[in-house]
Amino acid sequence: MKTKITSEWIDEKLKSGFLRGDLRLILTSDDDEAELLYSAARKVRDEAFGRKAFIRAVVEYANSCRCSCLYCGMRLNNPDGFRFSIGHDELLAIARQAFDNGIRTFFLQAAESESCGAEWLRSVIADVKDLGMGVLLCVGVHQESDLDLWREAGAYKFILKHETADRELFEKMKPGFTLEGRIEWLKTLRRHGYHIGSGPLLGLPGQTIDSLVDDLLLLRELEVDMSSVSVFLPAKGTPLENEPTGDPELGLRFIAAMRLFLRNTLIPATSTFERLLENGQYRCFQAGANVITVNMTPQKVRDDYTIYSDRFYVGLDHARKTISKAGLVETTEGELLAL
Ligand code: SF4
Repeated sequence: MKTKITSEWIDEKLKSGFLRGDLRLILTSDDDEAELLYSAARKVRDEAFGRKAFIRAVVEYANSCRCSCLYCGMRLNNPDGFRFSIGHDELLAIARQAFDNGIRTFFLQAAESESCGAEWLRSVIADVKDLGMGVLLCVGVHQESDLDLWREAGAYKFILKHETADRELFEKMKPGFTLEGRIEWLKTLRRHGYHIGSGPLLGLPGQTIDSLVDDLLLLRELEVDMSSVSVFLPAKGTPLENEPTGDPELGLRFIAAMRLFLRNTLIPATSTFERLLENGQYRCFQAGANVITVNMTPQKVRDDYTIYSDRFYVGLDHARKTISKAGLVETTEGELLAL
C-alpha cells in the first residue's frame, strides 16, 4: 500500500533524510498531500533565508545558436528564425535602468554561440559590475579559458540547465551532446570559482517520474547554489511543436521537493508557470521558491528569443506584486545570501 504523506512523515524525513522512494512519493502526491508539502517547503525556505525573495533582471542578448536542441525555437536547424544580438551600450543602458529600479542582480543570457566573442562579454560584465550589480551568466558551453576572463571581470554565477538526468533522453533532445559532458562542464564551472545553477525541463516527451527523481539526486550531487525547473512548452518550428505541454502541478511538486531535499538553494519562480497556471509564479513561491526574474530584453527582439512560443514576460510590477502576495519582503541577492 502507498505510504500516505502526513505532517509527521515530512518532519521525520526532514530529520532522517529523503531517499529515492520518498522523492517519488512527493512527486506523485495527491492535492491534500501536496498542500502539506508546500507548507513544509515554505517553512524550510523561511528558516534558511527568512521570509524574503529577490528580483533579478534578465536580458537575452543574442539568439544565434550552434546547437539543435529538439525543443528550442532558436535551434540551428530552424531556418525561419530571425537572429539578433544586442550591443554593449544598449545592454549597459538596460542594466542602469534595472539598477535605478533597485535590482542588484543582472542576468546575461544568450543562446550558445561564439558570435559575440569572449572579450566583448568580458567588457560588458566589467561595466555592469562597475554599476554595483552582481552578474550572472547563462550562455552555454565555451572555452575553459573564457571562464577565468569572465570570472575576473566580475561574473560570479553561471547557470547551465542539465535539462534531464536521463542519458538517453538527453542525447535525443540535444543531438551531438552527452549528459556526462554537461555534468563535467558544471563541475568545471565550480572549479573556476563560479556558483552554479542547474535544473530540468519538466515535461519533455518520454520523461518519467523516475528520471525526475534522478534530476533531484543530480542537483544534490552537484551541490548547486541555485536549482530551477521550467515546464516544457512547445516552440513553433521545432520537431516537438505538436507535443503537449508539461504539467505545471507536477512542476510545483518538483519545487517543493527541491526545497525539502536541497534546503538552502535559491529557487526561481519561472515564467513558464505563469504562462500555464493562474497565479503560477505566486504558487511557485507558495511551494518554496524565493527568486523571480524580470524580463528586460528589448520588446523589439524578445519574441525572437523562442525558447518556447507565446512566452509570458515578467514585468517589475508583476514581480513585486507576486512577492508581496506571497507574504515575502523584497530584498537583494547580496542581502539574502549574507543571512
Ligand atoms: S536550448 Fe540553448 S543550446 Fe539548445 S538550441 Fe536553444 S539556445 Fe541553443
